[in-house]
Amino acid sequence: MGAENHTLALSERQRQDVWFRDDGTCQLCGHPGNEIDHIEAKKMGGRKGEWKKWIDRAENLRLLCHACHYARHHGNQKGGH
Ligand SMILES: [Zn+2]
Repeated sequence: MGAENHTLALSERQRQDVWFRDDGTCQLCGHPGNEIDHIEAKKMGGRKGEWKKWIDRAENLRLLCHACHYARHHGNQKGGH
């Protein structure tokens, strides 16, 4: 089974839907993309359980390339270094 423990499980159908909708291109840099990003990750405090209703909807998913996806999750977008 999957070794990834930081990504939510998306069905193949969901991945394809996002891939086709976004024309197979990274939504940040325009290069070919192959990774699905959750626009709003499940980091909202407070409403526990609420995110499950929309977290995996197409509106909350977008296609990114590996570089952008990595930077998004490991980079610091608000200053720092
Ligand atoms: Zn990119």
